[in-house]
Amino acid sequence: MGLIPYKNEPYLDWADESNQRAMRRALEEVEGSLGKSYPLIIGGKRVETDDEIESVNPSKPSQVVGRTGRATEREADMALETATSTFQYWSKTAPEARARILLRAAASMRRRKFEMLAWEVHEGGKPWAEADAQVAEAIDFLEYYAREMLRLKDGVDIYSVPGEESRYFYQPMGVGVIIAPWNFPTAILTGMSSAAIVTGNTIVMKPSEYTSVIGAKVAEIFEEAGLPPGVLSFCPGYGSEIGDYLVRDARTRFVSFTGSVATGLRINELAARQIENQGWIKRVIVETGGKDAMIIDDSADLDAAADDIVKSAYGYSGQKCSAASRAILHHDIYDDVLKRVVEKAKALKVGIPEAADVKMGPVISEPQFEKVSGYIETGKSEGERVLGEDPGDSENGYFVPPTVFEVEPKARVAQEEIFGPILSVIDARDFDEALRIANDNPYGLTGGVYSKNRDHLERARHEFKAGNVYFNRTITGALVGVQPFGGFGLSGTDSKAGGPDYLPLHMLARTVVERF
Ligand code: NAD
Repeated sequence: MGLIPYKNEPYLDWADESNQRAMRRALEEVEGSLGKSYPLIIGGKRVETDDEIESVNPSKPSQVVGRTGRATEREADMALETATSTFQYWSKTAPEARARILLRAAASMRRRKFEMLAWEVHEGGKPWAEADAQVAEAIDFLEYYAREMLRLKDGVDIYSVPGEESRYFYQPMGVGVIIAPWNFPTAILTGMSSAAIVTGNTIVMKPSEYTSVIGAKVAEIFEEAGLPPGVLSFCPGYGSEIGDYLVRDARTRFVSFTGSVATGLRINELAARQIENQGWIKRVIVETGGKDAMIIDDSADLDAAADDIVKSAYGYSGQKCSAASRAILHHDIYDDVLKRVVEKAKALKVGIPEAADVKMGPVISEPQFEKVSGYIETGKSEGERVLGEDPGDSENGYFVPPTVFEVEPKARVAQEEIFGPILSVIDARDFDEALRIANDNPYGLTGGVYSKNRDHLERARHEFKAGNVYFNRTITGALVGVQPFGGFGLSGTDSKAGGPDYLPLHMLARTVVERF
């Protein structure tokens, strides 16, 4: 296949009036389609369920974004059966043909970009630029994994002994269960699904119950791209109702999960148990949470550091697994950086992200709002709140203001994943202590150092306990093909989505040796 070299999808320029107009038009059009129902799709057929999942706008919880089917074990069983039978055919489809479907899906997503962005605003509560970055990431996954499959389709080189030929190549694995979170409902769902599909597997795709409508749009895009019926079954449902069933089932060959550590560990445990008729050890890809830290050294550019702390902590209301939730400041520059962070965070415009100038929207749901509000109470008892106030009434949207606490390193707000716009600021005597504090946490997803001291950067390069380490910049990057993403410790199995090792996790490697 003659393909242009991979490059990341560019972000939209919001200073360009025509982009602003297109976005406003898309928001209006999507608003006109709110409230529709989206059934399950199994084997290419729309399947109605007895109950539905109602998805609401987190900025206006009385507004129903849409309703999707709500799978029970009955539909989960149908989806697994369809995936099992379709695997016979799809696993034998040429890798080039499978890659072509991803490229067509990327083209379709590009064509529908503003529409997808508008769904992100309405269902995910994302400000425009955050929505754009996420849809660009989804397009990147499709483009990158298509090329990765072409790179790997004939296997990779190994050595042979004289008189023999040794070959090493990959084959599809089987039925995959794809379980996604709500915080990147287009990018992560598309990324996990496309990797599994392009490698020749069939999947049961379960989006988060909070963003099932976007899940339906992603399923639609794969359909538009010509993915044959049955390769992907769209199976929205509650984790508590169908999650265990899908993970335990003997037909499931692998599970690809992104979400909380509690759910990830449960999936890992359930998948490890062999049940009747199960002829393999299930493979489990689990990517979970973070308690990501930025260390600001005494030699850093303090204003740039404060800027990037604020961007990393409050982008998408702190609901990124990669969000900075701890700023560990060298004692000598502590007061200066804290003051700048507070000023810059105060200036963020919080509101309904339908407006172009809103920089921070709501948190995703009532339970998330309650959880984050609870941590604000905890933080108040553990340290000093230097920015933020108690959240208002959640009936008017799940809004939580940017919040900063000054705390000790062992405070709960500085140790546990909150997943909201709350930053814990910690004082460190020197760089050594800062690094010790950063590493004293069970998670290990992203981390960063702001410093001009080469020795400190080189130490952090190897010693910072995080799968993704960033120097003198924001820590929320996960650019496909450029910043392969995945964590250490309790943050996951380090699968490194968007990187060169990702696709082989979805395949079986075969060694064939022939003596001449
Ligand atoms: P969650 O664990 O509550 O839910 C994730 C998915 O798991 C949902 O689809 C849910 O329905 C499903 N689920 C729930 N119970 C299940 C069960 N028993 N069996 C199978 N599936 C089940 O997580 P969330 O709140 O949707 O997502 C937020 C979390 O995701 C945060 O911890 C965040 O850090 C993490 N995350 C990690 C990454 C990463 O790349 N490491 C990326 C994004 C989000």
